[in-house]
Amino acid sequence: MGLSHTQILLLILALIGLGILVQQTQSPPPLLSRWDGSMMGVSRSAKPSISAAFAAQPAAERPSGNPLRDRRTVITQGYGVGSHAPASVWGGIDLAIDSDGDGKADPQGTWHVPVYATHDGIARVKPNTWPGGNYLAIENEQYKTAYAHLDSYAVVDGQPVVRGQVIGYVGSTGMSSGPHLHYEVWERGVNRNPLDFDALRSDE
Ligand SMILES: [Zn+2]
Repeated sequence: MGLSHTQILLLILALIGLGILVQQTQSPPPLLSRWDGSMMGVSRSAKPSISAAFAAQPAAERPSGNPLRDRRTVITQGYGVGSHAPASVWGGIDLAIDSDGDGKADPQGTWHVPVYATHDGIARVKPNTWPGGNYLAIENEQYKTAYAHLDSYAVVDGQPVVRGQVIGYVGSTGMSSGPHLHYEVWERGVNRNPLDFDALRSDE
């Protein structure tokens, strides 16, 4: 095997680029001690646009807590089993309400209960999907949570939402045998177990 001329050229260019980068990081900051009022004025005037750019993007807040915010929540299908396998594709947990305390989900107590965003982000509304039915995702720079089988939405596509905001109502749309919330957590495109994000904690 051998490198083509193009590959060798790219390698040389990459090494030159790396050299420049190292040289720049090793150089002392230019003329810091000579900064005066006029320089401060320049940097101050540049600040508003930078902070505005940050404000326009949702913070990469970690999902946390139970999207149903109800202590009577039970898991009707766990992570990585049944229709949640393989976890890398369908990973999530199914949540419903046990309103009579017998340890099992209760359809009457589960229909149309509010679903709350577990972190800040932008709403992605996808109605009538299969198998997720009325599907909703909340995305920020690092995390995405997904809420499936919704009966209806409380947000519109592209809307910024904050943690704790009602985003929809539990239903049984799509591939579903009864009212429940299918809840997923993704971290930088990798599916994660929602229980690692306190998906049953309802102390708020
Ligand atoms: Zn599910």
